[in-house]
Amino acid sequence: LNRRLAEFGTTIFAEMSALAVRTGSINLGQGFPDTDGPEEIREAAVRALREGRGNQYPPGPGIPELRTAITAHQLRRYGLSYDPDTEVLVTAGATEAIAAALLALLEPGDEVIAFEPYYDSYAACIAMAGGTRVPVTLRAHEGGFRLDLDELRDAVTDRTRLLLINTPHNPTGTVLTREELTAIAELAVERDLLVVTDEVYEHLVFDEAGHLPLATFPGMRERTVSIGSAGKTFSFTGWKVGWVTAAEGLVAAVRSAKQFLTYVASGPFQYAVAEALALPDSYFSAFREDMLAKRDLLAAGLTEAGFQVFRPAGTYFITTDIRPLGESDGFAFCRALPDRAGVVAIPNAVFYDHREAGAPYVRFAFCKQTAVLEEAVRRLKALA
Ligand code: PMP
Ligand code: GLN
Repeated sequence: LNRRLAEFGTTIFAEMSALAVRTGSINLGQGFPDTDGPEEIREAAVRALREGRGNQYPPGPGIPELRTAITAHQLRRYGLSYDPDTEVLVTAGATEAIAAALLALLEPGDEVIAFEPYYDSYAACIAMAGGTRVPVTLRAHEGGFRLDLDELRDAVTDRTRLLLINTPHNPTGTVLTREELTAIAELAVERDLLVVTDEVYEHLVFDEAGHLPLATFPGMRERTVSIGSAGKTFSFTGWKVGWVTAAEGLVAAVRSAKQFLTYVASGPFQYAVAEALALPDSYFSAFREDMLAKRDLLAAGLTEAGFQVFRPAGTYFITTDIRPLGESDGFAFCRALPDRAGVVAIPNAVFYDHREAGAPYVRFAFCKQTAVLEEAVRRLKALA
């Protein structure tokens, strides 16, 4: 393994899911739903497969039906207008979109600012692209983890090329406010930075404001690469369908990298996702309501079990502080949890450069059936 990747090892999600299987534990670690997305969308994939649509290489940028559905979705939900022929790219999940964007846009030595804790592929992809990551730590407050805008401004140097933003944020559940996004946009314009914004949890925002795409802020459309995922929005994480929307020059750059990563992917599933994006608003609101009820169930259960809970404003993750349980090392806690309680969770420290800053935090996923969450809570309460 080369020096760029040597520090990364096996992803925490693979490690913890294997641990869950080995110990027969309830897996609240890796973020995947235990119920598949809409039946009619599954049927749409079967139909495409049977009818021979997408069984051979689909077009490089994605099938036209899906590109059109993505632009219609961006317009309908956010008033963002993109050209389906030149300003959209279908990718093998958001994971490939992140990788291709960083590989396409960074020169070796360029600095990338990302919020810490960050989704694990960010660090690895910045490294593969030869960039330097500059973490800005989200700080825990009573109400949740927040960005310090002064720290963000201070992190920008002459070598900063790109801001890598994630809202709603995995693993903290933080949703950036209009004020925070305005400040980020002003900074990007003032320092002439590109922005890659990972908005895969765009449909899982629980407060009134809803999701505010960074690309809608002044000066941002032309410098922002926005990323979405059918895995997250439609609960088909195995299909690996994601997308990028951005101005033509940026999409062309990302496409240049993408064509040498997977070239294309997920043929029949692209047809199904095109139908999914056209589902009525009732699908999206029911999905959000369902996750909201699950958030409340797990948040209440974890609180009763003695954890300090940071109630997430978005995503399907809850970050907790384990110090009220007399624990301080999230790694040790998560390694022992299957034996102690038959539950698997993720130590947030893996998402930090400053590991000590993340040490006492542990993440639980709540995209699981109600009975599963109830059983997990019962087991965790026995810990105290
Ligand atoms: N970004 C974030 C913040 C995520 O949580 C995930 C999924 N865990 C991804 C990207 C990857 O999405 P996909 O499964 O579409 O590759
Ligand atoms: N995004 C999911 C999570 O945060 C996992 C994705 C993966 O396994 N790479 O749990």
